[in-house]
Amino acid sequence: MAVSVVPTRAKIIIIGGGVGGTSVAYHLAELGEKDVILLDRNELTSGSTFHSAGLVGQLRADPTLTLMNMHSVDLYRKLQQTDTPPSWRECGSIKLASTPERMQEIRRQIGWAKTFGLDLKEISPKEAQDLFPLIDLEGVVGACYMASDGQVDPSQLAMALAAGARRQGVQIFTHTRVLEIKTTNGRVSSVVTDKGEIECEIVVNCGGMYAPQIARMVNVRVPIVPMSHQYLITENFMPQNAPFLPSLRDPDNLIYFRQEVSGLLMGGYERTSKAWSADYNTIDDIPANFNNSLLAEDWDRFTDIAEASQRRVPKMAEVGIKSFINGPEGFTPDNEFCLGETSVGGFFVAAGFCAHGIAGAGGIGKVMAEWVVAGEPTMDLWHMDIKRFGASYESPDFTLQRITENYEQYYDIHYPSEERKSARPKFVSPVYEWHKANGAVFGEKASWERVNFYATNIGNDALRPKDWLGNHWSNAVQVEHYATRNNAGLFDESSFAKARVSGSRASEFLNYVCANNVVKGVGKTTYTQALNSKAGIESDYTVTQTGENEFLIVTGTAFSVHDFGWLEKIRREHSFDGVEITNITKDLACFAIMGPKSRAILQSLTSTDLSHAAFPFMNSKEITIDGIKVRATRLTYVGELGWELYVATEQGLELWEKIMAAGKAQGIKACGYRAIESLRLEKGYRAWAGEINTETNPYEAGLGFAVSLKKEKFHGKDAAVAAHSNLTRKLVAITFDDITCVPFGSEPIRIGSKIVGRIKSGGQGYTIKKAIAYAYLPIEYTSVGTNVDVEFFGTWRTGVICAEPLFDPTNERIKA
Ligand SMILES: Cc1cc2nc3c(=O)[nH]c(=O)nc-3n(C[C@H](O)[C@H](O)[C@H](O)COP(=O)(O)OP(=O)(O)OC[C@H]3O[C@@H](n4cnc5c(N)ncnc54)[C@H](O)[C@@H]3O)c2cc1C
Repeated sequence: MAVSVVPTRAKIIIIGGGVGGTSVAYHLAELGEKDVILLDRNELTSGSTFHSAGLVGQLRADPTLTLMNMHSVDLYRKLQQTDTPPSWRECGSIKLASTPERMQEIRRQIGWAKTFGLDLKEISPKEAQDLFPLIDLEGVVGACYMASDGQVDPSQLAMALAAGARRQGVQIFTHTRVLEIKTTNGRVSSVVTDKGEIECEIVVNCGGMYAPQIARMVNVRVPIVPMSHQYLITENFMPQNAPFLPSLRDPDNLIYFRQEVSGLLMGGYERTSKAWSADYNTIDDIPANFNNSLLAEDWDRFTDIAEASQRRVPKMAEVGIKSFINGPEGFTPDNEFCLGETSVGGFFVAAGFCAHGIAGAGGIGKVMAEWVVAGEPTMDLWHMDIKRFGASYESPDFTLQRITENYEQYYDIHYPSEERKSARPKFVSPVYEWHKANGAVFGEKASWERVNFYATNIGNDALRPKDWLGNHWSNAVQVEHYATRNNAGLFDESSFAKARVSGSRASEFLNYVCANNVVKGVGKTTYTQALNSKAGIESDYTVTQTGENEFLIVTGTAFSVHDFGWLEKIRREHSFDGVEITNITKDLACFAIMGPKSRAILQSLTSTDLSHAAFPFMNSKEITIDGIKVRATRLTYVGELGWELYVATEQGLELWEKIMAAGKAQGIKACGYRAIESLRLEKGYRAWAGEINTETNPYEAGLGFAVSLKKEKFHGKDAAVAAHSNLTRKLVAITFDDITCVPFGSEPIRIGSKIVGRIKSGGQGYTIKKAIAYAYLPIEYTSVGTNVDVEFFGTWRTGVICAEPLFDPTNERIKA
């Protein structure tokens, strides 16, 4: 073993030489980064990579990951032509439907595969058997086939990527263990290894299941747990000259296969998962000498999988087993990768690939290299961003409960509005017990229990959506919707993420971060976005000026780490010293009283004049409601007259009960989040991570009114100016007359015979009595009145592009 001498300085250090680290290195080199080194504590590929099964499937449950996996396939094809080929074999893949529901899922996937130009096609059970003659068709309802999927040798893939990176100047040091990572002023400054210390500007933690250990060196929490994953390889039994088999997935039976030489590799996702080490204190610790190693065979947990494999491929009962692999792999709490810059400047992570890291590696390397170079993601990576994990994931125990639930449902069909069951309740509002006593059905967001609806409200079941959206639907939502439109609804929004921004430069700072002018005087509230350098929407929130240099920022429940992290990053990188950002989410409860009777109800409890003249829209005041001090802000997310009321958490229940009592005669109703969704879709209010994200700019999203180009400067202004004058696509509202046929995301959109886009979001509009969808379309297709076809589970239905907003276009109600 050669003893390497590490350099004393490098711009970028990658830790970990599995497929993740080598792919990041390869793509950084492709982007022209020359001063990059990669360190591995052992040989390359000595973590999860060497024992991977190597299946590469492209189509995933979301567009971003699908695009990333498509890049992987392009890259593996290309690498196959080099002198270090990764044994890429484009053998195709079959997915079987062994239930009618799975067939629906397949049809839905075939639909949105069209929007990527992917060659996914429906095939009959017989055609599946022709391609994979070993299968028994008992219970098979249908199937699909993708010719461009394949398989690769995982170790050779890492070697090929490493070779490509080396050719372009990346230095790789194996048997070099990272022992410590130093920071200066909140940024990484050096990495200490067993071969010496290396100064650096950026560290990318590609440690796979070891990533939490590495991140602890800078006090960053990476919620990944190594889970045991098993597969077996049979003896060779097929004729040498037989056509090579496509890979085969039968998710209803929890199993997958691929050809290995002239035998089969078979694995699956058992219902009784096992974390490698489930001791509370060492859940994600990995022994210092665990290199190139496997776990002990666990046949007991594999029995169901083995039996299922024999039912689907009877030959499995006859052939001998050559090897059995039990390998640990880093899983995250939601089966999505863990990517991005952490709270420590320059410290990135790319880990937790949840048993699809080989399929993902090419795409992961690409997006991470771009993220490192640009300092922000180049596509919408929110659902893979480490900043999606809130405070509850600091707990290893909570993390493990979520990962266990997730692993055991790996192959399940996930329907819209499905809720997690494990580790609940975690955070609750002060009104939680009242909600429970009054029939609330809770959902969970960022570990907060939130009311979805109250089961005690009984509506019209005839409006239940056909297909998947009907699964977790409730007829209570329409009742709450109408109560808000006709009388008043009271919503518990205590989980909203809230931050106080203060200090002598707070005004200057916020007017730089925000695209809108947010410094309008004490008592003024502004709706704004924070833009990245490409004018993509990093955050979307309201800012209330509460003092000369003090502001209250309120954003979505799930976005505190992300949005407040962005504020911290801009503050650090632009040296806004003296600005303080304090997360005050748990200090304040928040209730929204919305609807035409909200003023009368609230006025009966306060001496403050709530008339339009005295308390106009987008104004905020401290008022007293029946003896309780409250910050009342006049705004709305549902398109009605109303106020958001912020109150000290300990007084929350008392305030809630007083308002409910005062509103009884006026028909006030406690309402949940599902009603908010329906109301806001009608009014066209955007949701971050719904219709808007880091990839969409305010102008195409219809939010140009919230950008103040008059301001001398703000972050992302140059790109915003360019976007303003060059609109190439636009978000449009599409309605469907049949309110029970509801698109909910990713369905393809066709105009004439051309696929022009895919649905972004959708739902039911109970007041307008239509199904609603939003989608970005090329500008030439966005005229109001244009008919568009949208594919629902294999059937095309016609909708129409409508003028926005769909409800109360003159804003009479909110400005009443
Ligand atoms: C049994 C099994 C089957 C699988 N099958 C598939 C499949 O069919 N298709 C698919 O797409 N995916 C599959 N996967 C998943 C895939 O193998 C992984 O997602 C992927 O290999 C993870 O790569 P990585 O680079 O993140 O981590 P790793 O390969 O674990 O690399 C991490 C590296 O970090 C190094 N390291 C750790 N600590 C330090 C330190 N302090 N200093 C320096 N270096 C350090 C380690 O030595 C290691 O080499 C499977 C996984 C398993 C376990």
